[in-house]
Amino acid sequence: MKTQLLTQRDIDAAAAILREGGLVAIPTETVYGLGADALNPAAVARIFEAKGRPQDNPLILHIPEVSWLERYCRNIPPAAYALAERFWPGPLTMVLPRRSNVPNVVTCGLDTVGIRCPNHPAFLAVLRALDRPVAAPSGNLSGRPSPTCAAHMVEDMDGRIEAIMDGGPCGVGVESTIVDLTTPIPRLLRPGGLPLEALREVLGEVAVDRAVNAPLAAGEKPRAPGMKYRHYAPKAPVTVVAGDSRRTARYILRRIGERTGVICFDEYVSDFQGCTVEAIGSAKDVGEQARRLFDALRAFDATEVDVIFAQCPGDAGLGLAVANRLKKAAGFQIVDLGEGERT
Ligand code: AMP
Ligand code: MG
Repeated sequence: MKTQLLTQRDIDAAAAILREGGLVAIPTETVYGLGADALNPAAVARIFEAKGRPQDNPLILHIPEVSWLERYCRNIPPAAYALAERFWPGPLTMVLPRRSNVPNVVTCGLDTVGIRCPNHPAFLAVLRALDRPVAAPSGNLSGRPSPTCAAHMVEDMDGRIEAIMDGGPCGVGVESTIVDLTTPIPRLLRPGGLPLEALREVLGEVAVDRAVNAPLAAGEKPRAPGMKYRHYAPKAPVTVVAGDSRRTARYILRRIGERTGVICFDEYVSDFQGCTVEAIGSAKDVGEQARRLFDALRAFDATEVDVIFAQCPGDAGLGLAVANRLKKAAGFQIVDLGEGERT
């Protein structure tokens, strides 16, 4: 299949492809999504095929405004409206009971649906032109780091889908935050572009699902099915080194070999001269780290490194999402050196 390259002005062309059951990679503020008409089961099934996505990992339903929530969800708690009012359009996915008009292939048979209103003018315009919701997971081949620019989309999906819309680099760079509102206490299923602190400002108590910080035990059933899969991983094994950044830099330096890759904060690049280094932003700027992380993880696959060490931010703000993606990329292989300057 010849994959067409679209610009952000090609709204009608993108909507037309979707209307005919085609797949379009669409930029969002978080990462690029691989979209299909959510109400067309055959089109949605092609998303799983194009990505090699496991059949039990549901997709997120994208809508252009909060007034569409009731078309696809039921028993909507006031908290959902409070969150939508404050954070939509934006990097927040809410898990709510679904209506029967949402095809099973979108939710993988669950009686809930993950739903979000993305904060990207081109995606919103496509949704309005199509006048239907778009089902879209991240646009990467399953298991690879999520795409944060059109070049990543071409790398993974050229020849597999009808079109890729180039919207430039994503402003957030990690996927949406997923919160489950079907439990008595709202539960964070995946940290993402909206910080946990912001959720708590609106909701009060928010439980953090165990899968955010730890690998699942054998046989344990995750609440967000996607949490059980190996994800974001470059080909070389990754070890996350957590804790005070000066200490983590020293720890990594002592372990450098000929084919060692390093993910580090900008302040430490000069320490790692001669290594294959991917800097992800200042230690003080988790927003920048979020924007650059997936590109850094992808970059190692074009190199000869056989092991990768990564510095890792703390859990405040977007740090929780960056740390979660790094830990997942590492299969939770983590060395924690703790905070504070011990010598
Ligand atoms: P992706 O867009 O590629 O990040 O994938 C969507 C994520 O949303 C996956 O981790 C899914 O497991 C999760 N998800 C989608 N729908 C639901 C749902 N109804 N309940 C829990 N998690 C969901
Ligand atoms: Mg994904």
